[in-house]
Amino acid sequence: MAKYAMLRETIVEQLPAVALMEAPAASDGQLALVHTPEYIERLVSGQIGATAMREIGFPWSDYMVARARRSVGATVAAVRAALQTGVAANLAGGTHHAYAGKGGGFCVFNDVAVAARMAQAEWLRQQRQPLKVAVIDLDVHQGNGTAHIFQNDDSVFTLSLHGDKNFPFRKETSDLDVALADGCGDADYLAALEQALLELSRRFEPGLVLYLAGADPYAGDRLGRLALSQDGLEARDRRVFDWCHQRRIPVAFVMAGGYGRQIEETVQIQLRTFRLGLSYAQRWRQDPGRQAGPDV
Ligand SMILES: [Zn+2]
Repeated sequence: MAKYAMLRETIVEQLPAVALMEAPAASDGQLALVHTPEYIERLVSGQIGATAMREIGFPWSDYMVARARRSVGATVAAVRAALQTGVAANLAGGTHHAYAGKGGGFCVFNDVAVAARMAQAEWLRQQRQPLKVAVIDLDVHQGNGTAHIFQNDDSVFTLSLHGDKNFPFRKETSDLDVALADGCGDADYLAALEQALLELSRRFEPGLVLYLAGADPYAGDRLGRLALSQDGLEARDRRVFDWCHQRRIPVAFVMAGGYGRQIEETVQIQLRTFRLGLSYAQRWRQDPGRQAGPDV
């Protein structure tokens, strides 16, 4: 948990151009765009069973519930900001193992799924157009909850690049899954990403991208099992930001996983994602030729 505070402090020090906002708490109504009323009620009231809590991996507390709400609210806020300004982020989030009716793997609610549905509802109301959303999940673990939530939803494309042998051991089916072998390094990873983005371009035209920029494919990660360098991870981020920028697609990114043997390295990787995100936000502003948001 310490990495979140460290990342925030490091951004304040090193990237003063990043505008920081307090994360709003997601309401029950927002959570219910994705989660079942039973799950929300049991989780929020503390009536959730011990087995379900063990699967999540945190002890229950009021603080845990408040944090989970704000983690979702921050991604909702990041998506709203991205639709206005091109690029925005949540300093936490990426809880992609949460399903509609249960949590798991340190994930209580699925922030990205809630934010995608919220953005679609608001876009439809304001623009009278449907909004198609692509989730580019480059955390090293498969986005199983996200894949399951959107499995019958053609308006959201789920792409997951993940370690084949890593958690979750029973994978769900995303719109596009790329399973990587243990020890996968920069070159193989970036080639696989290139292929995946090519296929995404062929199959889907999103008006919004949600990017899970997990730091856990890093060679120095305790849980990752892959072998990317810090430069390789930056090249990965750059490829995703470029893909969005070339198509003028707003992108909201979230931190997702990162469990470095040295916590400073995880923070450093995530700081580099922010530095890059900031440069793309500035480029977006400097391009006066087109309006923010998808073409309608
Ligand atoms: Zn992960």
